[in-house]
Amino acid sequence: MMSVMPNHWQEELRLLLGTVLIASLAGIFTGLLLPCLLLGLSVYLGWHLYQLARLPHLLRHDGQDGPRPNGLWKGIVEEIQALQLSDGNRYRELSYQLERFRDTVNTLPDAVIILDTSGRVEWSNPSAGSLLNSIWPDSQGRLLSALAPDPVLGEYLAKGDFSMPLVITSPANKAIILSVFIAPLKHEANRLLLVARDITGQYYLDATRRDFVANVSHELRTPLTVISGLAEQLNADEADLATLPRSIELILQQARRMSELVADLLTLSRLETQQEPVHDERVPVADILKIIAEEARALSGAAQHVIQLDICSPDRLRGNPAELRTAFSNLVTNAIKHTPNQSEVRIRWQTDDQGAHLSVTDSGAGIAPRHIPRLTERLYRVDASHSRDSGGTGLGLAIVKHALERHEAELEIISTVGGGSTFICHFPPERVTS
Ligand code: ADP
Repeated sequence: MMSVMPNHWQEELRLLLGTVLIASLAGIFTGLLLPCLLLGLSVYLGWHLYQLARLPHLLRHDGQDGPRPNGLWKGIVEEIQALQLSDGNRYRELSYQLERFRDTVNTLPDAVIILDTSGRVEWSNPSAGSLLNSIWPDSQGRLLSALAPDPVLGEYLAKGDFSMPLVITSPANKAIILSVFIAPLKHEANRLLLVARDITGQYYLDATRRDFVANVSHELRTPLTVISGLAEQLNADEADLATLPRSIELILQQARRMSELVADLLTLSRLETQQEPVHDERVPVADILKIIAEEARALSGAAQHVIQLDICSPDRLRGNPAELRTAFSNLVTNAIKHTPNQSEVRIRWQTDDQGAHLSVTDSGAGIAPRHIPRLTERLYRVDASHSRDSGGTGLGLAIVKHALERHEAELEIISTVGGGSTFICHFPPERVTS
C-alpha cells in the first residue's frame, strides 16, 4: 500500500487553505462570497483533474516538461516511481535468472523437451535436435511422434506410465542408445518434461560384461563337465581300473585348465581395477628377457624351438617389473604355442628417439587380418579348440594390452597368414631410462 509522506499532506492542505483564503478575500471584496468560493474550489478541483490526466505522462517522462506536480500528487508520483524502480529491478533479476537457466539447459548434453498433453513440442534444447530430431524452433507445436517416429517411444507416451525410464535407439542416430525419462511438470501437471540421455557407452559396457560372464561360465563349465563325468565313472561299481590312470590324468588336465583360467582372470581384474599409476621402478628389461627366453626354451622342451634374443639396447624402462614381465612372457608363450616345432622365435629389445620397442616374432601360421583388431578382447580366440588344446585361456593378449596401457605403451600386431606374426610393444620415450 502507498504511504504518502505527511509533508505532502501539509503542502496539499496549504494549497487548499490558500485557495479558500484567496476565494474568500475575493468574495468579501466583491460581495459575492459563495460564487467566489465555488470558483476557487472549482479551480482547485480542476488542478487535481489536470494532475490526474497528466499522471501517465509524468510517470513516463518524469515531469521534465510542464509544471512539476506538488502536494499529494508529488507524493503519489514519487511512490509510483519507487514501485516502478523496484519492479524493474525484480524484472531484470528474473530475466537474468531465466537467461541463466536457459543457458544451462541449452548447454546440457541431455535432450530436454517440454510436451503438451497431446505430445506436441512446446520447447526443446539444442541436444534434443541431435538425439530426438526436435530442432528448435522448427519443432514447436509438432508431434514428437512425428519428429522421432519410434514405436516403443510412441507406446510409452500413449500408456502414460513413466515410473520406469525407457531405453531406445536414438531416432536421429542409430548408433546412439538413449535412456528416456518423462515426468509431469510440478506446477503444470498437463505438461510433460522429457529428458533423454545418451547411455551408449554404459549400455555396451554392460553388454560386454554380460557376455563376459556368460563366456567365462561357459569356459569353466566345459572342464567341470569333463571332471564330473570322469569322477562319476570312477565312482561307479563296475569302474574299469585299466582306464584309471588315464582318467586321473584327464581330471588333472582339466583342473589345471580351470586354475589357469582363474589365475588369468585374477591378473586381468587386478590390472583393470588398479587405479593408481604404476610404481616407477627402473626395470632391467634385458635381464627379464633373458629369464623369459630360458623359460621359453623349457616350455618348448621336446618341440625344440629356436629362441633368439637380440638385446640391442642397454636401456631400462620406468615401470612395474611384475606387470612388464607378465606382458612380455605372454607374448613369448603365444609365439611358442603358435609356431611349429624347431622353428624360430625372435625376441628383440631396442630403443630409439621414438621410445623403446620390445618385439616378439614367430614363424608360425600367422593371423588373418579380420581377427587382428579383436585379438586383445577378453576370451577372443582365432581357433578356440587349438587354443584350448595348447593351454590357452583367451585372456593372454587382454592382459598384455592392459599391462601396456598402464605404461602408456601400445601393442602393434603385424601378421600375414602363412608368414608368421610380430607383436611389438611400443613404449614412449618418457618411459626409457638408463
Ligand atoms: P590364448 O590364451 O588363447 O593364447 P591370447 O589372448 O593370448 O589367448 O590370444 C588370443 C588369440 O590370438 C589366440 O587364441 C590365437 O588365436 C591368437 N594368437 C595369439 N598369439 C598368436 C601368435 N603368435 N600367432 C598366431 N596366433 C596368435
